[in-house]
Amino acid sequence: MQIIDNVAAFQRLTFKSSEHPVGFVPTMGALHAGHLELVRRSKKECAVTVASIFLNPKQFGPKEDLSAYPKPFKHDCELLEGEAVDYLFAPQAADLYGDEFSLTVYENRWSELLCGKFRPGHFAGVTTVVAKLFNIVQPDHAYFGLKDLQQYKIIEKMTRELNFKVTTIACPTVRESDGLALSSRNVYLSAEERAVAPLLYRTLDELKHAYLDGERSTARLIERGTAEIAREARFKLQYLEIRSWNDLSTMEQLPAANPTANPKFFIAIAAHLGQTRLIDNIIV
Ligand code: AMP
Repeated sequence: MQIIDNVAAFQRLTFKSSEHPVGFVPTMGALHAGHLELVRRSKKECAVTVASIFLNPKQFGPKEDLSAYPKPFKHDCELLEGEAVDYLFAPQAADLYGDEFSLTVYENRWSELLCGKFRPGHFAGVTTVVAKLFNIVQPDHAYFGLKDLQQYKIIEKMTRELNFKVTTIACPTVRESDGLALSSRNVYLSAEERAVAPLLYRTLDELKHAYLDGERSTARLIERGTAEIAREARFKLQYLEIRSWNDLSTMEQLPAANPTANPKFFIAIAAHLGQTRLIDNIIV
């Protein structure tokens, strides 16, 4: 694996003109099996796989965990090396943005919903950095996790509407055996918090089954899920919402279940558990 730590050096690489498809897995580091699943998918489908590690300051709010975010760079390199990644792009913020950077890529329909309501500016930070990374890396395929469903939908929209020649590929959420979605932030959880954390996914799964058993009212499902989370006082719920997969619109009544159809809607949740903000979702 070749590690490239600056933009100019990456742009000089010539593999992009000779080897296709180029697969790209952008990350913020502190890698876990969820990230590695994206890498494996790229390795399977692409001639060259590029991963990036960049802890993007623009997607963190002033009171968020940028400085505390884990940075086990050497270990991350070993993990990527173990997956036979071809190139790791790991730029510094000063190099990627420079002193005069004053441009934002902003999607203005979906970026203020769900997580956007609680993290002002977050998705603008994400779309801006992903647009830059797409331009630098010039991938054919880019791999994202559905753990961050809203992020995936916004990036997919940006890619289409700004005519990037990139196919975005959504990959399933990788979970611990008790259902907790893998996240770089799970290391913040105390042992007690870790023990109750799976309640998030259990609740989503319970709501999905209530729907499959015939419940069609969004209001009743949300009420039931909210009550379930409230049973564990350590959780502070930010949102529990059901939205359409296609356009992220709200839905009062859910359509009849059709197991052969494409995704129709998703149930998304965000909650603080102690100091740690956790998100998860289930697609139906
Ligand atoms: P991050 O480093 O948190 O920015 O995540 C980088 C990529 O990994 C994003 O596309 C995430 O959606 C994806 N990812 C994070 N956690 C998981 C997970 N548990 N399963 C699948 N993909 C994930």
